[in-house]
Amino acid sequence: MTMKNKNLIWVYPPNNWTSNFNKTFVYGWSNPKAKLFASCGGKHISLPVQPIRIFPNGNFAQTVKLPHKKNIVHLIQILNGRRKIISRNVIVKTRVGVYCNKPLRSKKLKPPILYGDTVIVIDPGHGGKEHGTHSPKGIPEKDFNLQIAKLLFKKLSRGMPRHTSTGHTYLTRTKDKYVSLKQRINFARKKKCNIFISIHHNALPDNEDPLKHRGVGIYYTHDFVKPFAKKLLESISKEVRAYRNTPLQKHGIFKRDFAVTRPDFYTGVLIECGFLIHPIEGEYITQRKVQEKIVRGILKEI
Ligand SMILES: [Zn+2]
Repeated sequence: MTMKNKNLIWVYPPNNWTSNFNKTFVYGWSNPKAKLFASCGGKHISLPVQPIRIFPNGNFAQTVKLPHKKNIVHLIQILNGRRKIISRNVIVKTRVGVYCNKPLRSKKLKPPILYGDTVIVIDPGHGGKEHGTHSPKGIPEKDFNLQIAKLLFKKLSRGMPRHTSTGHTYLTRTKDKYVSLKQRINFARKKKCNIFISIHHNALPDNEDPLKHRGVGIYYTHDFVKPFAKKLLESISKEVRAYRNTPLQKHGIFKRDFAVTRPDFYTGVLIECGFLIHPIEGEYITQRKVQEKIVRGILKEI
């Protein structure tokens, strides 16, 4: 990550990146007064250079083509007549069938029976050496996951809404610390967890257009969780929409075999609170006020 030049932060792709496609996207932050171009080819800047749109907040995200097996992507910034060039190696390794969207088959299970109080485990995704994705300014996803998880934890332990006040709420991590997926699930098992909520922020594979994907996504594995996932999506989207009338779109609900949603002793969901890599949404969803609305939306359905 290039943080030295405050006028230009290039977050993705990192240097010596291997893309599974003959394209990728670049994203980061630039002085909004600058002009920005990309050139993908060899060592020297080759024509045509592709203009990159900088949003008014300075964020940019755009697809670039990778014509060779070994590419050097140059990002050229022109500001006050001065040229700043950053270059990165990007290798194309085309693998067929990596992202096949096979429907996931799972056993038909009955929802777990609730004994006594509700135990909720909130799981801030990633941590420590595992950054997750990054915001356009290069802030790691793990930080934002923890912010939302802590906010949710605080509200739940305060007994808000009231009917959960007799239960218990736990966090799988309270600091910037690496916790393995196995450790997260073992922790939930030990606490006799009924509801498991994993908090994340979304990114995309290289072949997707970063400007075309927005919104909250809820992921689940077992069919008995689907109604909860649906309600969560509606609730979060509705709460955020009420705030200054700026909508947070619904990306959707998705059945996926994620490690944290796979256990069937709890009702497990993974929430992607919007696309961190999107120039507008990435900035919006990390505002404290919007984070509070997301948390409110979750709270209303627990
Ligand atoms: Zn994540």
